[in-house]
Amino acid sequence: MAIWLKRGAESEAVKTHDRSVRETVEKILADIEERGDAAVRELSMKFDKLDREDFRLSPQEIDDCYALLSERDIADIRFAQEQVRNFAQHQRDSMKNIEVETLPGVILGHKHIPVSAAGCYVPGGKYPLLASAHMSIITAKVAGVPRIVTCAPPFNGKPAPAIVVAQHMAGADEIYCLGGIQAVAAMAVGTESIAPVDMLVGPGNAFVAEAKRQLFGRVGIDLFAGPTETLVIADESVDGEICATDLLGQAEHGPDSPAILLTTSESLARETLAEIDRLLDVLPTAEIARQSWAKFGEVIVAQDKQELLDIANDLAFEHVQVMTDDPDWFLANMQNFGALFLGPRTNVAYGDKVIGTNHTLPTRKAARYTGGLWVGKFIKTCTYQKVLTDSASAQVGEYCSRLCALEGFAGHGEQANIRVRRYGHKDVPY
Ligand code: NAD
Repeated sequence: MAIWLKRGAESEAVKTHDRSVRETVEKILADIEERGDAAVRELSMKFDKLDREDFRLSPQEIDDCYALLSERDIADIRFAQEQVRNFAQHQRDSMKNIEVETLPGVILGHKHIPVSAAGCYVPGGKYPLLASAHMSIITAKVAGVPRIVTCAPPFNGKPAPAIVVAQHMAGADEIYCLGGIQAVAAMAVGTESIAPVDMLVGPGNAFVAEAKRQLFGRVGIDLFAGPTETLVIADESVDGEICATDLLGQAEHGPDSPAILLTTSESLARETLAEIDRLLDVLPTAEIARQSWAKFGEVIVAQDKQELLDIANDLAFEHVQVMTDDPDWFLANMQNFGALFLGPRTNVAYGDKVIGTNHTLPTRKAARYTGGLWVGKFIKTCTYQKVLTDSASAQVGEYCSRLCALEGFAGHGEQANIRVRRYGHKDVPY
């Protein structure tokens, strides 16, 4: 049986937090639906100290943002975007339309159709998370979405230049300076100044994730991508410093970001705990990381490799960094994860910022039923059918007629019967 050297928050505290977020979101969504732009303006002032008449950035404002970045910054953003585009294009190329003859004269197919308009949220409350612009906008672009709207909150009261440049370089059609619940609600339901979209994507804090959840149905959403989670699975092939660095590197996201060390080595676990204390004294973002580590950090010592796997699958975490002597065993056997980072040479920050896989990933155990954002999330797989011959229509019609009778569906049955009579030149047997 595994032992916990450090445990995270009690589930009651988490439930109370969830309830209060849910209620806040419900109220704000109703308000925006009723009062449109006027409510969005008030909420932006209240939460983001943003005082703008028009939320859409003008071409001049976008140019001004480019001017505030160095050539190196722009080249770095371009490099990251090329990596994301390249991998997304490979994924798109792997999605094939199909058309097959399943019975003589019966043709079934599916074709992939991108949604018409996507709303890409780029988070930016605590840090200007420009990488999220590549992850959602480029992926939508590669999927073939014709209208791409994007929102990001202001940073220090103004549009964050690096986010705006990333949104623009990625190919967004409309860029708005709007954050939080008001941004996703405005994109989903539409206001006087923003036409609604069909699909909302992108990560965000608990308010953003909950707003997307409540809007699902009226619009599509990519997945539940809330506060970041990281799980480090390690054995004695690595040391406490690298484990502590990888845990705090993600705990700095926000005060509600769980980070867990799962190991078979009690000495590594103790060394990591000591390293975390040391790093928290020097990390510039320690104020946030310290809160999330204190509340949600965990250190678990498992008995053996199988127990590591069972606990990891049960946690179903967003990021799983594997630093053991055989990381490929986890690739072969793990079932529930957002993204795997295999071996000590890679890490979550590479995936978050630049390597090319998507960083918008499932949290709160959503990895049990979905992977992260990818081109397929913007694409509807729609089926069609054709029956080419009279005999095929009559053959399928006879089965259909009898099956409809079993269900008591007379109208459905008649749809089949008329075809059996017309194309098969006979009556159905009863
Ligand atoms: P954010 O843009 O998600 O949220 C900022 C907005 O929240 C503000 O604009 C404000 O309008 C709103 N807000 C703040 N406090 C509020 C309150 N009390 N009531 C109503 N609205 C409020 O930026 P953030 O806060 O920095 O969070 C970014 C989040 O994104 C982090 O939690 C990070 O872990 C997460 N993230 C997740 C993934 C993923 O794939 N799961 C990827 C990257 C980032």
